[in-house]
Amino acid sequence: MSNGTENKLDILDWSDWKRVLCVVAHPDDTEYGLSAAVNMWTRAGIEVGYLLLTAGEAGMKRYPAEAGPLRQGEQRAACDAVGVEHLTILDHADGHLMPNLDLRRDIAREIRGYRPDVVIAQNFDVEAPWGLNQADHRAVGLATIDAARDAGNRWVFTELADDGLEPWEADLLLVAQPGNPTHGVPVDDKAVEAAVHSLECHEAYLADLPGHPAPVDFIPMMLGQAGPAMGAENGVTFRVHELGGVAKSKDAGADADEA
Ligand SMILES: [Zn+2]
Repeated sequence: MSNGTENKLDILDWSDWKRVLCVVAHPDDTEYGLSAAVNMWTRAGIEVGYLLLTAGEAGMKRYPAEAGPLRQGEQRAACDAVGVEHLTILDHADGHLMPNLDLRRDIAREIRGYRPDVVIAQNFDVEAPWGLNQADHRAVGLATIDAARDAGNRWVFTELADDGLEPWEADLLLVAQPGNPTHGVPVDDKAVEAAVHSLECHEAYLADLPGHPAPVDFIPMMLGQAGPAMGAENGVTFRVHELGGVAKSKDAGADADEA
């Protein structure tokens, strides 16, 4: 049965997850492979939410005032394609993101409100596996790793608690599709198909990029390239970091934070 491929990545155990929050800069950022893993999770009954820091209004040939609403609509359809109901799109300026306190506060606010077991950050390396990474991706990825901890600290962004948002510690922080993955999530044919469809939902956006390969051609190829390292045909890679939330009782809910 062996095809000579060495399994280098551990399989990520998501069997006890209840809620996952993916934090990205733009509409479509989750649709380049990550949405296949998302579809595996939502079909298993796990709630997955997306937080987008911008509407991606600077990503098209048409004027931002037209592109922003158009891309928000395309993102809603992409979410529907993989079973994601919860979608928050903030109005930070596309192309101008910095990993600063404003960004961290907004991400921490969403984490406290949504209360995920797992927060997923996008790749924030200067050089990503697909080439030089985009400035907003780097900013949001870095801000997300900090915000995941800020969300659990009562004494950071105290105004959030004033708004009724109590501290929340997720268990894990995952970086999606990093250059140095530790774990993999194998995905089945149905998830590959859903991932292709989720990117196809960004129809007007992709039509503005004439050289862009068709999702049906390259998404299965991407997932197929990642699969063998986890002993699967198709998969999505992650780097896993523990946030320390496992040390506290999740069942106690809000009571766990009373001191
Ligand atoms: Zn992007």
